Amino acid sequence: MAQEDVFKKLVSHCKEYGFVFPSSDIYDGLGAVYDYGQMGVELKNNIKKYWWDSMVLLHDNIVGLDSAIFMHPDIWKASGHVDAFNDPLIDNKDSKKRYRADVLIEDQIAKYDEKINKEVEKARKRFGEAFDEQQFRTTNTRLLEHQAKRDALHERYAKAMNDNDLAELRQIIVDEGIVCPISGTKNWTEVRQFNLMFSTEMGSTADGAMKIYLRPETAQGIFVNFLNVQKTGRMKIPFGIAQIGKAFRNEIVARQFIFRMREFEQMEMQFFVRPGEELEWFRTWKEYRMKWHKALGFGDDHYRYHDHEKLAHYANAATDIEFLMPFGFKEVEGIHSRTDFDLSRHEQFSGKNIKYFDPELNESYTPYVIETSIGVDRMFLSIMSAAYKEETLDNGESRVVLQLPPALAPVKLAILPLVKKDGLPEKAREIDNMMRLHFYCQYDEKDSIGKRYRRQDAIGTPYCITIDHQTLQDDTVTIRHRDTMQQERVAIADLEKIIADNVSITSLLKKLM
Ligand code: ATP
Repeated sequence: MAQEDVFKKLVSHCKEYGFVFPSSDIYDGLGAVYDYGQMGVELKNNIKKYWWDSMVLLHDNIVGLDSAIFMHPDIWKASGHVDAFNDPLIDNKDSKKRYRADVLIEDQIAKYDEKINKEVEKARKRFGEAFDEQQFRTTNTRLLEHQAKRDALHERYAKAMNDNDLAELRQIIVDEGIVCPISGTKNWTEVRQFNLMFSTEMGSTADGAMKIYLRPETAQGIFVNFLNVQKTGRMKIPFGIAQIGKAFRNEIVARQFIFRMREFEQMEMQFFVRPGEELEWFRTWKEYRMKWHKALGFGDDHYRYHDHEKLAHYANAATDIEFLMPFGFKEVEGIHSRTDFDLSRHEQFSGKNIKYFDPELNESYTPYVIETSIGVDRMFLSIMSAAYKEETLDNGESRVVLQLPPALAPVKLAILPLVKKDGLPEKAREIDNMMRLHFYCQYDEKDSIGKRYRRQDAIGTPYCITIDHQTLQDDTVTIRHRDTMQQERVAIADLEKIIADNVSITSLLKKLM
């Protein structure tokens, strides 16, 4: 199946099974805003718990914070967002569709990469065992032509972005012959800058209302609380502050479902270190965060780093962790070495001293910062796209199964009486009452057992138990495992032990120790 079709199916699956709904659905939706349904909210909460516990629980030098979404407007001047949180946009005059100029060019670079990879794969098939990829990549003339074009484009693009040269960005689009996917024409407007922050007003207009912004990242709430937390928590450098919360960006091109939203959620951790030690800590966090992703078990080939060549004005090192989505490798998390930029700027704009006194060095300094920043919604999408499987069974039937890591699955256990009579529902309810003290259970007595299994497979429930007539005699049930579909007879008394370890967040955290 084409990846595009897989993605479409995933989006409709998310809606059909209560994971993600378009916002304001009965009013035909609101662009790039989504609601999480009864299953989605459970998965999302589990992702957040995995992140929070891996940061705050496992590190005695990281503490949490929950800062407000509304903040003093000067914060966004200090952070640079008022002046520089822009995307370059371009319109196609025929379709009237708006695009990000940088994204159009990056897609073009990806097309060259695709061509190169196709050449390699074709040759691999042709030469079989004897294929030497390295040699092919350095000698094949057609591939080298593609590579040269790609590298030249990349260099030109990076320079234009670094120089903030909007006319050159447009010229690249024209020279590359990039067309609008809707109208198919090259009838482009000029490129303009567009600020991504939403603003609103606080206070009554009679008083002179103040223009404030909805935060475009959670990080600034951490920076402005640096001293509050450091002093009251008696924190010693190096230490970190972690926060989960909503962020808002007026994205020009909102596409790919929950990949790019206008209201989304971030999980950010700012780690404060001594100046000069930041690159060492950058490497440490880069590795730790990758380990966190890989512990989910989707396969190491689903992840890669993308080190930034164009660094933000405040950064001296930056990398993305990319995940193989149905539409290619895409950023899920950013890890940035932000130097002392943020704290220094807040010191300057607020007029307050935000220095740290280091008792070991007996001196005061502005700490340097390593940031790890991940989007909950993108993480959600990456997990759903890796977990979604369509399988043909031995008996010729097919099933859709979400192979979610059990620790993240919304429902951990389904409790199914074989029939709706003979005291089986009552017995099943008894077990249900015992089990729901420990984890999220779902009781279901409607339809055939096969149909009930399919419903649980579709929401990723790792275990189903069936209560039958034998249960009434010997207090055993059949437990069915989602991925293998294997069934075994176990004592009710052992159920909690069998299931709890596997479905707990602790099972993931152990892989990080
Ligand atoms: P992109 O280049 O895709 O716009 P970014 O580099 O601007 O992302 P950051 O500012 O580094 O993103 O934000 C950190 C993380 O927040 C991203 O890795 C992503 O997971 C998430 N994120 C950012 N923008 C959005 C959005 N519009 N919708 C959903 N998640 C987002």
